[in-house]
Amino acid sequence: MEIAPRPSGCIDLHVHSTASDGSLSPLKIIERAKEIGLRAVAITDHDTVEGSAEALGYPPCPSLEILSGIEISARVPSGTMHILGYLLRLDDLTLRQTLKRLQEARANRNIKIVEKLQDLGVSIQYDEIRAVSGGGQIGRPHIAQVLVRKGAARSLGEAFKKFLRKEGPAYVARYRLLPSEAIQMILRAGGVPVLSHPFTLDAKDERELEGILVDLKEAGLKGVEVYYPEHGPKRTARYERLARRHGLVMTGGTDFHGAAKPRVQMGIGRGDLRIPYRLVEKLKEAKD
Ligand SMILES: [Zn+2]
Ligand SMILES: [Zn+2]
Repeated sequence: MEIAPRPSGCIDLHVHSTASDGSLSPLKIIERAKEIGLRAVAITDHDTVEGSAEALGYPPCPSLEILSGIEISARVPSGTMHILGYLLRLDDLTLRQTLKRLQEARANRNIKIVEKLQDLGVSIQYDEIRAVSGGGQIGRPHIAQVLVRKGAARSLGEAFKKFLRKEGPAYVARYRLLPSEAIQMILRAGGVPVLSHPFTLDAKDERELEGILVDLKEAGLKGVEVYYPEHGPKRTARYERLARRHGLVMTGGTDFHGAAKPRVQMGIGRGDLRIPYRLVEKLKEAKD
């Protein structure tokens, strides 16, 4: 059996914990990062800094640097826009208040989805969804799991198709920050805002993507996530080019979710990702 080389001395700046939709606790993430020899890691949970704060609360380890992090979902007309925040003050009051509002909006949305399902004749209770969530954030994938368990759908895919997809009969839109609001929130907390996985914006070509980047930079964006398991050599080269052209720092991470996304491994993605530590130095320079 061939054993892949460990990503020793490399970094992973995009990891989800049980505080959002990952399957490993912050402590387990740190242990894994040390085990595989990472030099820096950032827990970047969706709309919460609980996981990041927990990781930073453990005694420091000389071989592993932990950067504070978050990933915010922004409201865009089409595609998906996520904005990463790094090196931010996790106790910033405005940050905490805004995140609380986003968490409440998430919870209310789930309750509304359950109500819609009940109206559609599905016998489902909110507590059943909470029970499968494992204590972290609750989202549509958990609702889909319960729907399958109850026989209302044969698979998670069918649960989405039949009920939960956008425009589906049990769909409820979620309150999200505007891109500029997400960026400003991160800047105000002393952090560095970075556009996550640009391909999910579904821009039709490089020009359109460049236009979006220029607007985001005007709003205060400072970086682009260039290195990512789904990017491949062509996309990576395109994002490197755009980042250089617009003076944006480059970051990289695997978007590790543990068992929730089993083919993506921390530090190496699908096997061949190696992200160098020097990006952390550039990120720190962007903070000043
Ligand atoms: Zn994302
Ligand atoms: Zn992510």
